[in-house]
Amino acid sequence: MTPSTRTLLKVCLRLYLIGVALALPSNKHEHERNYKPQDVIIRDVCIIGGGSTGTYSAIRLRDMGKSVAVVEIKDRLGGHTETYIDPVSHVPIDYGVEFFHNLSLVTDWFTRLGVSWTKAIIPPINTQNVDFRTGIIDASYVPASQAALGQALGVWTSLLLKYPTLNYGFILPDPVPDELLTPFRDTVKKYSLDALVYLIFEFRQESILDQPTLYVMKNFGLDLINNIINGFLTTADHDNSEIYQKALGILGTDALLSSKVENIDRPSSPSANYTISIAVSTPSGRKLIVAKKLLITIPPLPHILDFLDLTDAERDVFSQFNFVGYWTSIVRHDGIPDDIQINNIGADTPYNLPVLPGIISITQTGVPGLHGVKFGSPYAMSDDDVKNSIIDTFKRLKTGGADVNATAPDFVVFSSHTPFDLKVGADAIKAGFYEKMYALQGVRGTWWTGAAWNVHDSSLLWAFTEGVLPSLLA
Ligand SMILES: Cc1cc2nc3c(=O)[nH]c(=O)nc-3n(C[C@H](O)[C@H](O)[C@H](O)COP(=O)(O)OP(=O)(O)OC[C@H]3O[C@@H](n4cnc5c(N)ncnc54)[C@H](O)[C@@H]3O)c2cc1C
Repeated sequence: MTPSTRTLLKVCLRLYLIGVALALPSNKHEHERNYKPQDVIIRDVCIIGGGSTGTYSAIRLRDMGKSVAVVEIKDRLGGHTETYIDPVSHVPIDYGVEFFHNLSLVTDWFTRLGVSWTKAIIPPINTQNVDFRTGIIDASYVPASQAALGQALGVWTSLLLKYPTLNYGFILPDPVPDELLTPFRDTVKKYSLDALVYLIFEFRQESILDQPTLYVMKNFGLDLINNIINGFLTTADHDNSEIYQKALGILGTDALLSSKVENIDRPSSPSANYTISIAVSTPSGRKLIVAKKLLITIPPLPHILDFLDLTDAERDVFSQFNFVGYWTSIVRHDGIPDDIQINNIGADTPYNLPVLPGIISITQTGVPGLHGVKFGSPYAMSDDDVKNSIIDTFKRLKTGGADVNATAPDFVVFSSHTPFDLKVGADAIKAGFYEKMYALQGVRGTWWTGAAWNVHDSSLLWAFTEGVLPSLLA
């Protein structure tokens, strides 16, 4: 073979190999080719939302031997759990999630994270009842007696006992019984539950009378009542954000904070391979998460899920939700005494429920001069409108005489929890809304958890999530 023939053969061989390489099917997912190798994150499960259920799922899945990535839009994990640490006294104030159920599932979770817990002791509260529309103390308002409360609680409990599956989710009899669909105001009348209404409102923090009774039963259920009677748990340091800081320490870079999902590509029939692509913008640039399964924990509203190509069934279900507005804040205000809680009551309304939008209550924080303010609205409002309404209410406390020292409060922290409490109407529930919603689990490699799927209660949501994970792993 002459040298020139050898050169020609080498060139031909190289061209042949290049041709073969180009013709070979690539192992890489189509989208991966647009990313540098170091920007492609391959995981068993990608979790969207690093709040209560997202964080719980991430660590539980890791403990079951699965690799995970959590995409959280904020710069911290924890969602509705928020803690303000007073810089002077260093006292932590939980102004979001405060209490947990005394369940082994909860204490196991805290043990896993290395978080100490204690019984939540609610200090005796010196309460003023003020109609915040006028700022006048309602001296004629008499809270329900313990005897009346006990009686109503007994009747309510026997109603709850008829539907034990509600403890685990929206698991409803078929057909859905009318007594679950009827507006709560009618259930109150039918069973003489008058004494219980304001107490339920204090836990629900939203207008309850027109809601289908089902939602009140879900949110004021057997386990919650058990904990009201026997005591809730809270973190020993009274800093519930510690749960999420410890979780972040475990997850490390598997938690992508301050990160926004741009687009998710889910094949219509995902295989056991890594076939779901999640394009994410992060503080260190664009990343592609390639996962086998997707777990979505954020409120399932179409405008929030705009990064997802929703199936017709998903869109049909999620577009039926309505929601309320809910805001929390801590204000500095030296006029209001530190040892009182001011509840908003309606002087002339059924069961003295307050008229919303409005402040729900002004609470003690344990730090002199600082007060917790919770605000509810039946509809979405801008943060500025909420703040202005809070300021106007403080002015009314002064002119109405409930607190003559009330001046404008300074907002130390202010947080929107809107959209809150996703619900649908009685007709939708009757037409099998929750059956259709639960049938979405697993479609296109996507599983779901979070408050809309069960209840706004971390302990019960962690229990619900425990029920979702096995089918995700199957
Ligand atoms: C003020 C307040 C007080 C409460 N108090 C209690 C209490 O004492 N005890 C109790 O058990 N429950 C309480 N709750 C109920 C609470 O909602 C649940 O406990 C629980 O936090 C709900 O968990 P979740 O995972 O559904 O939502 P969250 O904990 O809110 O988590 C959702 C997460 O998703 C993130 N996210 C949203 N959109 C995106 C996106 N596009 N991409 C990525 N991430 C996104 C959010 O930032 C958030 O971190 C309270 C709620 C509020 C608002």
